[in-house]
Amino acid sequence: MTMVMDGRIELLDHGYLQLVEKWGSEEQIVESARMSTGKGFLGWGVEETCEGCDGSGTGTKMLGHGPGSLCPKCRGRKVFINKPGDEKLLRTLWTNEHGTPFEMAGITIEVQAPIMVFREWHRHRVPFGYNELSARYTPLPDFDYVPSIERVVEGAKNAGRNKQAQAVEAAPTIGEVSTREWLDELTQAYQHCERVYQSGLKRGVPKELARLIVPVGRYSRMRATGNLRGWLAFLKLRDAKPAQHEIRVFAKAVHVLLTGLFPRTLALFDEGRS
Ligand SMILES: Cc1cc2nc3c(=O)[nH]c(=O)nc-3n(C[C@H](O)[C@H](O)[C@H](O)COP(=O)(O)OP(=O)(O)OC[C@H]3O[C@@H](n4cnc5c(N)ncnc54)[C@H](O)[C@@H]3O)c2cc1C
Repeated sequence: MTMVMDGRIELLDHGYLQLVEKWGSEEQIVESARMSTGKGFLGWGVEETCEGCDGSGTGTKMLGHGPGSLCPKCRGRKVFINKPGDEKLLRTLWTNEHGTPFEMAGITIEVQAPIMVFREWHRHRVPFGYNELSARYTPLPDFDYVPSIERVVEGAKNAGRNKQAQAVEAAPTIGEVSTREWLDELTQAYQHCERVYQSGLKRGVPKELARLIVPVGRYSRMRATGNLRGWLAFLKLRDAKPAQHEIRVFAKAVHVLLTGLFPRTLALFDEGRS
């Protein structure tokens, strides 16, 4: 995964994922949950500092240590305020699957990915909204996904019991030479598809029909929006071992974005996941 200057996370050979908008916050998640009592957001646990070093932890990490306890890093005296924060409520919401407060925040992203990734992605219907580039209006970008040799060879080797990742039963174990040959064939096929596509456009074939030849490896672009609850459900399925590598790469980038924007919630989400 590569970060570039304008905030885009570059993925696969021509893909990217970029934050368009974030709304809501973890404070608002807590505030919404407290509608039941009308108390609002009371504050996060107080950050602790150590007089002996800068090895401070944030509130919840240190909770349970008594006042005057020693810093676990330098064994010096820790300045300690034993004030539990609203992390506790956030945890309770999460562990008890009280999901609606997590609908009070979310993100919109822009993604460029192969059509085959979008086929899987768009199966996530609730609570997402999608707008995709339309090849009825605009010719698609001339980018096709070519997997790396490693992706093919290691993917076949490590499929394990995942039937969807396995080769067909009668096929031999694929190696580097055979993969290279297949990738050449794939590239030539992409070039042929592009020629037929362009030929159709030049001849005046309607764009919505000229695209008949566009393969699922062709890159497309979309915006996707959803609330945090939905994104976490998406991550649970797509940033997970059984998911296909290509969508998982994008899901991991969503994970990175969300971790930066909603760190406490993502820490709860990550607990117990390996
Ligand atoms: C590893 C993997 C392999 C897959 N393989 C295949 C495959 O071979 N073939 C295939 O067709 N699909 C496959 N899928 C897609 C899968 O079946 C789901 O469509 C996809 O993961 C979206 O999940 P979802 O339905 O939970 O999401 P959403 O549609 O976004 O729904 C989110 C949640 O809302 C609720 N919900 C939504 N709609 C309804 C409803 N109508 N009734 C009741 N509750 C509802 C459910 O709680 C659901 O979990 C695969 C998915 C994964 C992750």
